[in-house]
Amino acid sequence: MTEPRHGRPAGPLPRHLLPDTATIGDAGQLVIGGCDTLELAAEFGTPLFVYDEAHLRARCREAVVAFGTHATYASKAFLCRAMARLAHDEGMAIDVATGGELAVALAAGVPASRTHLHGNNKSAAELHTALEAGVGRIIVDSDDELDRIEALVATGAPVPQILLRVTPGVKAETHEFVATGHDDTKFGFTVSTGVAERAVARARASDAVDLVGIHAHIGSQVFDAGSFAKALSVLADFTAPLDLPELVIGGGLGVPYVEGEAAPTITEWAAELKAAAARLGITAAIGVEPGRAITAAAAITLYTVGTIKPLEGIRTYVAVDGGMSDNPRPVLYGSGYETFLPRAVDAPRPRRVRVVGKHCESGDILVRDGAVPDDLAVGDVLATPVTGAYGHVMGSNYNKVLRPPVVFVADGDARLVVRRETVEDLLATDVG
Ligand code: PLP
Repeated sequence: MTEPRHGRPAGPLPRHLLPDTATIGDAGQLVIGGCDTLELAAEFGTPLFVYDEAHLRARCREAVVAFGTHATYASKAFLCRAMARLAHDEGMAIDVATGGELAVALAAGVPASRTHLHGNNKSAAELHTALEAGVGRIIVDSDDELDRIEALVATGAPVPQILLRVTPGVKAETHEFVATGHDDTKFGFTVSTGVAERAVARARASDAVDLVGIHAHIGSQVFDAGSFAKALSVLADFTAPLDLPELVIGGGLGVPYVEGEAAPTITEWAAELKAAAARLGITAAIGVEPGRAITAAAAITLYTVGTIKPLEGIRTYVAVDGGMSDNPRPVLYGSGYETFLPRAVDAPRPRRVRVVGKHCESGDILVRDGAVPDDLAVGDVLATPVTGAYGHVMGSNYNKVLRPPVVFVADGDARLVVRRETVEDLLATDVG
């Protein structure tokens, strides 16, 4: 859990938490991709996700420069057709974790061969669709999944190229719900017990799969590149005798969300991984699947302040028109965020507030310990930065709140890529 400073007045929002193209307009307001964010709020309404397209493209390019065709975008972080197309155009493969994510990537025009299907419980139907479409890799997670693939291939489905997902026993320094590399996890074949070795032998003996590599993912929001190097050293011992061409180390590179946090860049992460691989004598091509590091800092969420409730001697609650339905991370993981007013980006933020949503739930918190300028008022547009990953995609319709739209901004243009939900959308699946 990351908590920003408690109770102390804060200076202006640190600029590095804003998207790459963020600038300050003549009136002190935030401009992203050449678009005035206050005008965006007026045009598209709030809540609104605003993504800096140049920022997204720059992070994809950075990954491709470092890892070539083995750079894969983990679409669970943020997915819509525009995003899948952008990552593909920039040269990344697309990691999909379900049939739904695969369907969106294919609908975006991404060739199936550039998609990689993940999941610890892929259904026979999902596997059938993936095999028939010709997905580039299936990351096989269990013996039961191998059974299902063998049954499908026996009835005529094409033989897939697969990676086996293994758990190298590394517990990343992060929130325990997202640390997936240690042994006590639902994901993958365990290295320490010999289960992974047996899975390799089985896959090699099977005519139904073409085993091309090993996959591991040690967790998310990992700040210490040393954790990845540690995972590689465990994997080096395991993979050396196998002599497979690919070794994918997953995603998980962290990003700063609040003042005081720092994380390696994709380029620094790549350098650390490559140095570790060289040291360990790993000859397989190293692949990665960043999600958060591509999209998180590319976006901000704009809200409108509706209610301010000062509680003498306790705190001030600032309620906005979204909440846990557009950003469940604070509730799920206790994640910390910053907040600021886009009309006065460079203003000091002396006033301590708790930013909450509009849901019927006391735990509906967006920013537990936020800071805003003194003149915050009802009707202000308030923003949270670094909301581009695991926000919109994890959103819900709790309390039948309508999910917000997404705009991509670039070169002074704002392009609506996901429209706001309507009441008709809410009722579309309600056939009772
Ligand atoms: N790859 C796999 C297998 C994952 O499970 C995840 C996230 O859970 C990712 C990649 C992306 O992680 P991140 O967004 O932290 O980079």
